[in-house]
Amino acid sequence: MPAFLLDPATAAIVAAVVGLCVGSFLNVVVHRLPKMMERSWQRECAELAGHPPEAAPRYNLVVPRSACPACGHRITAGENIPVVSWLALRGKCSACGAAISPRYPLVELLGGVVAAGAIWKFGPTWQGIAACAFLWALLALTFIDFDTQLLPDDLTLPLLWGGLLANLYGLFVPLPEAVIGAIAGYLVLWSIYWLFKLIRGKEGMGHGDFKLLAALGAWLGWKMLPLIVLASSVVGALIGIGLVVLKGRDHNVPLAFGPYLAIAGMLALFWGAPLAKIWFPH
Ligand SMILES: [Zn+2]
Repeated sequence: MPAFLLDPATAAIVAAVVGLCVGSFLNVVVHRLPKMMERSWQRECAELAGHPPEAAPRYNLVVPRSACPACGHRITAGENIPVVSWLALRGKCSACGAAISPRYPLVELLGGVVAAGAIWKFGPTWQGIAACAFLWALLALTFIDFDTQLLPDDLTLPLLWGGLLANLYGLFVPLPEAVIGAIAGYLVLWSIYWLFKLIRGKEGMGHGDFKLLAALGAWLGWKMLPLIVLASSVVGALIGIGLVVLKGRDHNVPLAFGPYLAIAGMLALFWGAPLAKIWFPH
């Protein structure tokens, strides 16, 4: 690695810039991945029903180019600079003046902040780079689940394998802790799900939540699981009660649990280790 990258402050700034650009791509993932899943389900349903496959225009993470949803104006390279473009355009499309959601610069900013934080904490090392990938994936999952109540397998499963791979040589925790973490993470929520279903007769969470906690266990080890479940339940309960009280939201509508799990996972990566030591001193 070049010598200038070894200075932690410089490395964190480089990571922030890279993170802003990755954040820009995460916006595309958050927006398009659920739509791609929906299209593939529709294709499968049509196939099962014996209908001929519809000829649809190509739609993936690369094609078509980003355009204004209001007027179809193609976003130029100059209008695609993370955060800066949104500020320069004052949050409006350059062609029709339609408002561009502040969510876009927010996701870009978060992409940069988590990357800088990871490199600051772990250094310009393989551990730091792996932490960036972990945090970016969790960011995408947070927003996708918040929008659609889905946690795509296309993200949760690679995240799970990635965690086992990262810990093959103990990048974050020893491999046995990662393997047990993945299995225990899945089983904990799976058991709660079935208990809930047997007692209340309805489903309280989705299977994506099991896979997400399995992935967090693979990255952070089983010792971190109690902390993650506790932190996500507390945050989830507070926000859930807040929504029922403030907005009169029907408490029978299941709330997405994934964002709280993902946020708890991010916090645990940075600050979980000393807390986990309280429960498991060795
Ligand atoms: Zn427009």
